[in-house]
Amino acid sequence: MTDHLLQQFRALAAGISIDLSDRQLEQYEIYYRMLVEWNEKMNLTGITEREAVYEKHFYDSLTVALVPEVSRAARLADIGSGAGFPSIPLKIAFPSLKIAIVDSLAKRIRFLEAVAAELQLGGVELIHGRAEDIGRLPAHRDRYDIVTARAVARLAGLNELCLPFAKPEGLFIAMKGSDTTEEIQESKYSLGQLKGRLREVKRLELPHEKSERQLVVIEKTAATPKAFPRKAGVPLKTPLL
Ligand code: SAM
Repeated sequence: MTDHLLQQFRALAAGISIDLSDRQLEQYEIYYRMLVEWNEKMNLTGITEREAVYEKHFYDSLTVALVPEVSRAARLADIGSGAGFPSIPLKIAFPSLKIAIVDSLAKRIRFLEAVAAELQLGGVELIHGRAEDIGRLPAHRDRYDIVTARAVARLAGLNELCLPFAKPEGLFIAMKGSDTTEEIQESKYSLGQLKGRLREVKRLELPHEKSERQLVVIEKTAATPKAFPRKAGVPLKTPLL
């Protein structure tokens, strides 16, 4: 079962202080197979080659744990998770982490329901809806230790979709490609409005493919002001600039 690629993945995870058991490696492998199989019926990912999925989806998702609070967190919300990134790889790595996934596309949520059942993951809440609407519900507003989003939108709009989920002193971690300087500059006003404060930008590189990644780590300083998030569609169409 633990072939070369899985051994390599285990070593990479160990390099960021994540120790994976055989059972966890098996869960990643089942997830990989389901991703490829379901991708034939619906658009989940452009990346299907096994090595690439392990590096660009699974390992990339795990790099969120370079932020020390992640491995100690109790609740994580992943906004616009698509086929489950980064939250499903994180949930496999940290089984006691409770995760909530919000995505506006029903078919992706159906895929994730099948994944959660097949992998026997407990503590996974799958929510079909717009982040703007779900972020207004008391059960989700100002509630999460960690909020993540990968490849969803530019920061100025994304802050309004994601920060309402983070509890005061919680973190919003935006996963970005290379150079975020301009995007961060552009997002300053929205950060202030949404009670976010930029803590740091962690730069890293994918181990084999070598492309650059940045984790923009934002602290939530206070409860979300009543005015936010605005109506569904508004934050990305008319970002707070
Ligand atoms: N995070 C995944 C990844 O990195 O592979 C998926 C990225 S995909 C480009 C963006 C996802 O965000 C889509 O699944 C889309 O349905 C979802 N999305 C976009 N706007 C949203 C919103 N306002 N509320 C919830 N989900 C949203």
